[in-house]
Amino acid sequence: VTAYRLERALLPQGVTDDVLVRVVDGRFSEVAVSPGTRGNLRMSGEISPDNRQSPRVPGETATPIPGLTIPGLANCHSHAFHRALRGRTQRERGTFWTWREQMYAVAARLDPDSYLELATATYREMVAAGITSVGEFHYLHHQPDGTPYDDPNAMGHALIEAAKQAGLRITLLDTCYLAAGIGRPPEGVQRRFSDGTAKSWAERVAELKGDDHTRIGAAIHSVRAVPRDQLQDVTGDVLHVHLSEQRAENDQAINAYGVTPTQLLAEAGHLTDRTTVVHATHLTDADIRVLGEARVYADFCPTTERDLGDGIGPSRRLHDAGARLTLGSDSHAVIDLFEEMRAVELDERLATEQRGHWSASELLAAATHTGHASLGWPDAGRIEVGQRADLVTIDPASTRTAGTGADEQTAVYAAAAADVTQVIVDGKIVFTEGQRREIGRQLATAIGKIWS
Ligand SMILES: [Zn+2]
Repeated sequence: VTAYRLERALLPQGVTDDVLVRVVDGRFSEVAVSPGTRGNLRMSGEISPDNRQSPRVPGETATPIPGLTIPGLANCHSHAFHRALRGRTQRERGTFWTWREQMYAVAARLDPDSYLELATATYREMVAAGITSVGEFHYLHHQPDGTPYDDPNAMGHALIEAAKQAGLRITLLDTCYLAAGIGRPPEGVQRRFSDGTAKSWAERVAELKGDDHTRIGAAIHSVRAVPRDQLQDVTGDVLHVHLSEQRAENDQAINAYGVTPTQLLAEAGHLTDRTTVVHATHLTDADIRVLGEARVYADFCPTTERDLGDGIGPSRRLHDAGARLTLGSDSHAVIDLFEEMRAVELDERLATEQRGHWSASELLAAATHTGHASLGWPDAGRIEVGQRADLVTIDPASTRTAGTGADEQTAVYAAAAADVTQVIVDGKIVFTEGQRREIGRQLATAIGKIWS
């Protein structure tokens, strides 16, 4: 049994001072609030009678964790190799084509060894930002000419190993990517992405195995990259799909099939409460209704959507229709879920010229337990008995956070990834702030090799 005494923590009932947590086999066996701190509860919540008992056991030592501790963050949409593009795609004026050219250049150069190195460093950056689970949308499968490696899942295995080395959980969303566009075969580096047909994609993916820190999920790259008649062959307990990120995708679907991308997914039976639609930026009213009725997860990646000039998706309308918000750092122009959280609200303000769409608690729910559930980890993202023991601690006295109240608003509107001081995943300390420079060096080495 390990015990931690949290100076201040975000519990399901709100921000609470002096919380004792006990961890057995990587899960919380007890979350106890000391009786004297009841008045410090910030939210409306009541403490359950069980939690009113004194957490103190005479003679027991609990490791103190100063600061504001929140549940683990879930990064629900990642393309790990895009981390090598940061900064470099902004040269000159950084057009979409500058970005795409460089993205394909990196995709062309990676092999299982260099991908392991790059992804390990990238995932360590995520851990240092408080991320305890990543959803890796993985389509870089084969050798540059499209031939499978001796191990056809060599690249996927590199990503799973990278997550293990970095200390976070991974949901490998193995992505079916068969076409350059509707009716167009894969071109150039895209040959690395394609398994030829959805059936051969499924056969390869069936060889991947999960474990206590790894889930295998499925993804459809987009309705552009998987032909209509094969969409229904891409299945998994967890299914993610890029949806209507740019207007061009909608135009192509309507021109080719006469329906929107959302309608194509609905007709293939893919809109369920286990499906995540990523971006969901350019939707019709009917699309929003259908997605909401299906209770899909809608994964927003605001820092990438702004970097690529995609537009601002209807996050609140999707929520009000029944969809559930999650967040991702996608292209890793930024890896900072605090920034993603506030961007959802701030983008809505710009789009509507009004404040007050999302509360900080709702945004924190998206970044923690809703996000985890969408990746197949419903047992993570809450500081609660029975949940996986993830603890992310923020410094409430940094230059950014000082004087902000050390509460939900601090986490959403003041903190940055750089304010994370310690991260515990499944009961184990996987990051302390002294490691930041070393992670920076590891990133520089891995990225330097790719561009040299
Ligand atoms: Zn993406």
